[in-house]
Amino acid sequence: MSATLDIAAVRAAFPGISDADAYLDSAATAQKPAAMLDALRWAYTEACANVHRGVHRRSQLATDAMEDARETIATFLGAAAPEEIVFVRGATEGLNLLAHGLSALRLQAGDEVLVTAMEHHANLVPWQLACDRVGATLRAIPLTADGALDLSALDEVLTERTRILACVHASNSLGTINPVTELARRAHAVGALCVVDGTQMVVHGPVDVQALGVDAYVMSGHKLYGPTGIGALWARRELLEAMPPYQGGGEMIRTVTLQSSTWNDVPHKFEAGTPHIAGAIGLGASIDWLTGLGWDAVAAHERDVLDYAIAALDTVPDLRRVGTAEPRVPLLGFVLEGVHPHDVGSILDQHGVAVRTGHHCTQPVMDHFDLAATVRASFAVHSTRAEVDRLVDGLLAVRTVFGRRST
Ligand code: PMP
Repeated sequence: MSATLDIAAVRAAFPGISDADAYLDSAATAQKPAAMLDALRWAYTEACANVHRGVHRRSQLATDAMEDARETIATFLGAAAPEEIVFVRGATEGLNLLAHGLSALRLQAGDEVLVTAMEHHANLVPWQLACDRVGATLRAIPLTADGALDLSALDEVLTERTRILACVHASNSLGTINPVTELARRAHAVGALCVVDGTQMVVHGPVDVQALGVDAYVMSGHKLYGPTGIGALWARRELLEAMPPYQGGGEMIRTVTLQSSTWNDVPHKFEAGTPHIAGAIGLGASIDWLTGLGWDAVAAHERDVLDYAIAALDTVPDLRRVGTAEPRVPLLGFVLEGVHPHDVGSILDQHGVAVRTGHHCTQPVMDHFDLAATVRASFAVHSTRAEVDRLVDGLLAVRTVFGRRST
């Protein structure tokens, strides 16, 4: 497979992308390729039926397509089997499911859960709730000044009482890629499980959950060029089998009496009710489309745009990047001294540049840097150097409106 991307063809694959504006907010949600949209249309026309329970042709078509998508995701994540993949609404639901199930399995009063200070709230609040429920303590690996994990503190925060280590693979506000293999090894050494939020990672490079040596991994479809409302959770089969169900209802049961029920096999035990069938099929299609480009080509292109953006942003007066650690995914957080990030975002929007501003659902990260908010430009497979130029022109326009801080 070629290691260079035909960027014109890639951009043409996205009906929502044109040179009219620069979409630099893919870390919030990705634009959608036609191949994915076609799969959604197919799912809602040719295969529009409920899954698993139907005996008719359309139902079987939908069921097969959904199970094919599960297989695609299993291969994509390096799972041992498709049964280890649970369809969820997104990373948030996956992490809540894990916090609920693993805390029931592993957590008691006096135990500890270890997170990092760069977690998205989706991988922080569910563990706070779980700790509150059982009387466990939540601890966090602190950050360094450049936005990496301060692993020198690990000996202090990872203890014999740690039962679960939950960490983000790549930070959505800093871009930092964390040493997940090392963290999993350290967690296992004290008998803890390692849960990883891979939401920002899976878009930018291959992930192999077995090679990483982790116990559970979650991702959202909509950041992976797929539909909203669908995501995937992977966990080792024995954990899925041991965890209690998360929601009750149809499909997750084997037998039901008025008094009690028994559970379906995994993964169906965790998929109560009618699933997001078209979403699952669409997600399978977006993964096929992305991996069809070749990871080497995707990674080389995104790194080129990222390096260009780092150099370009460093020429903007009074701009300070927030999170400079390597390795990183292609997103950059920054502030313009003296200008509120929301003002930066609004003026950039007037220049046809879409960025995200705010705390990015990582308020502890903002606390660490003593900031209320940052601007975040995030890049995707369709991003170009020309879009970075447009971002910089917009930032220079912001400087003109607000004046220079330094000379
Ligand atoms: N984790 C990370 C690192 C994220 O970036 C996000 C989305 N911003 C989430 C979790 C939550 O994903 P979702 O909203 O799709 O459930």
